[in-house]
Amino acid sequence: MGKLLIIGCGGVASVAIHKCCQNSEVFEELCIASRTVEKCNALKNKLESKTKTKITTAQVDANNTEELIKLINNVKPDAVLNLALPYQDLTIMEACLATGVHYIDTANYEPEDTAKFEYKWQWAYRERFEKAGITALLGSGFDPGVTSVFSAYALKHYFDEINYIDILDCNAGDHGYPFATNFNPEINIREVSAKGSYWENGRWVETEPMEIKRVYNFPEIGEKDMYLLHHEEIESLALNIPGIKRIRFFMTFGQSYLTHLKCLENVGMTSIKPIMYEGKEIVPLQFLKAVLPDPSSLGARTKGKTNIGCIFIGKKDGKEKKLYIYNTCDHEECYKEVGSQAVAYTTGVPAMIGAMMIIKGIWKKPGVYNIEEFNPDPFMEALNKWGLPWKINENPELVD
Ligand code: NDP
Repeated sequence: MGKLLIIGCGGVASVAIHKCCQNSEVFEELCIASRTVEKCNALKNKLESKTKTKITTAQVDANNTEELIKLINNVKPDAVLNLALPYQDLTIMEACLATGVHYIDTANYEPEDTAKFEYKWQWAYRERFEKAGITALLGSGFDPGVTSVFSAYALKHYFDEINYIDILDCNAGDHGYPFATNFNPEINIREVSAKGSYWENGRWVETEPMEIKRVYNFPEIGEKDMYLLHHEEIESLALNIPGIKRIRFFMTFGQSYLTHLKCLENVGMTSIKPIMYEGKEIVPLQFLKAVLPDPSSLGARTKGKTNIGCIFIGKKDGKEKKLYIYNTCDHEECYKEVGSQAVAYTTGVPAMIGAMMIIKGIWKKPGVYNIEEFNPDPFMEALNKWGLPWKINENPELVD
């Protein structure tokens, strides 16, 4: 049916590529292009004898729009799935505009020299994408992504109005290391060491990093400490869910992770300000990334489950209603299936599904859209089919 160009070949991309190869009817052809082409070739060699999908590879520097345009013109894909880093979102969007090809990503743009992610840079492309008659689908991972689709689904089928959303992201996996991150360490540490914030009554409320802590009894996992973080889907859901009064995002962290993070912060290792080291400029956080375990190597040693979902409180037929929609995913099962841990799996599967929605023309709307702006039903169905089944609890424990 179609041809997809995937940019990036790290932890999340590896899962998305495995899933595209399981879905050859839709993804007849796949080009994997990244900075280090050897990683693309290794994956191609691993998968091509097991799939009907025809795989090609290419080297590209996704910071360079001209190189991307050349690549897209050469490959002629129906869509580009950006699974590189948030720093490359705008160059890839520019290249999609220049070539008239649909765009999908999982994380919003963030300038490399400022640890602040927001949608304003990508939303500024709305008119140009609309005029070009192509779609940019923003945030097709798990959070943002599935959590946003859960919100659209809850609104469509269960509520007249949603007033409160708590997004809960629990990773109860144990990889046996005292400190490691489950996705790109640089992006992960920038996110968790930033100030927290939540949306309340039409404005942002800012908190100190990890200032707000709650304990929650997660289904299939048990009690875990979780901390309020700023997270990107809050920004778009605040616009797209009418009647919303408050949206918060919580993520679980173990004590060992927090103690190590604090220590690394205290000694300056998480800084993104360049320093001179032996006559060479280095960024401490990038150096730290180089010495930490590669997230894609964690799969073989991680045990336990993830549970990510949303608790909604709102009104239906004049009465207050609550609802919890969540997915649980087992690290070892994911590793058995695609050779990756559950954090990469829960992001790579929705990335493939988002690309499928666009390539099949099920989601067709020229412009730049966050994922909750599309009909959630076909995506929810696809989650059940492609490895991320979800559950509903109409009487959940609430977060105070
Ligand atoms: P990785 O670091 O494992 O992979 C990133 C890949 O992008 C690598 O293959 C890297 O190449 C490649 N890359 C980086 N810079 C360039 C460049 N200039 N040109 C070409 N390729 C480049 O990251 P993850 O797989 O962990 O994360 C991928 C994305 O997924 C990130 O944007 C992250 O924020 C997002 N994410 C989203 C989640 C969600 O739920 N929405 C959850 C988790 C992650 P090389 O191999 O040479 O380093």
